[in-house]
Amino acid sequence: MKVLLADEYGFCFGVERAVEMVEESVGKGETVRTLGPLIHNEQEMQRLGTKGVSTIAEPVQITRSETAVIRAHGVTPEVEQELKEKAGKVVDATCPFVTRVQRLASRAAAQDRHVVIVGSADHPEMIGVKGYAPGHSFIIKDETEVDSLPRLRKPMVVAQTTIKAKTFFDTAEALKTKTDDEIEVINTICSATRDRQEAARALSGMVDAFYIIGATHSSNSVKLHAVCKESCEKSFLIETEADINPDDLIGVETVGVTAGASTPEWLIQRVVSGLKELGAENANNLALK
Ligand code: SF4
Repeated sequence: MKVLLADEYGFCFGVERAVEMVEESVGKGETVRTLGPLIHNEQEMQRLGTKGVSTIAEPVQITRSETAVIRAHGVTPEVEQELKEKAGKVVDATCPFVTRVQRLASRAAAQDRHVVIVGSADHPEMIGVKGYAPGHSFIIKDETEVDSLPRLRKPMVVAQTTIKAKTFFDTAEALKTKTDDEIEVINTICSATRDRQEAARALSGMVDAFYIIGATHSSNSVKLHAVCKESCEKSFLIETEADINPDDLIGVETVGVTAGASTPEWLIQRVVSGLKELGAENANNLALK
């Protein structure tokens, strides 16, 4: 049985960088606490936990003897300031693509312009970006919420880094009804999600079964699973190699593998090894019959 990995899979640039920054602090002997879970992957969080990395829910929980880590989603300037006042050290692992959105929002607010951010209002990245344009920004999820906005002054429109391009551009278009000024539309969508989906789609038509490694509560993993199912009925979302049902591999010659943006490489390799072993066992069993 052949096991093929998609061309793009696993950790995105921002998550990989954040994990590396945490490891670097751990390597220096620091007690590291991240504000919110660093990534949505239980196995990786457990691995980091064995190195003493823990999570806090509020800045008030950090102490002078500890290092606070801002995760890839970023935070508001107020939260960053609070961490700086309370922690011994602050490591800012905000993804540079998110930092760009924060800077754009801040610049527009300084020019007394309105900022419309297209995304989920309760997502940490959005809460952080909004904090860079206080009193000047609005978060809407798509064009259906445009009516809820007031008249806009010289608006700038930016996107949550992980939304669909169509949602963003349709919303930007609908905003024309809310202003007489020119709208500055800046596409801040990161390509990581799209690249993983396109690579999975390309591979799904060439395999008999597909394994997507990621948590069931990780939205990008769930979307990858849906993409694979379009062309490959035997597509399975699994967290670890223990979730593979050997019966699903009977008669399977080629297996595809991909992983969500929070799935670490070590876990992906463990699943690939597990699949190869099960494939070899099935072949042996067939030969014995
Ligand atoms: S999905 Fe994109 S923006 Fe978000 S952390 Fe990853 S690389 Fe950065």
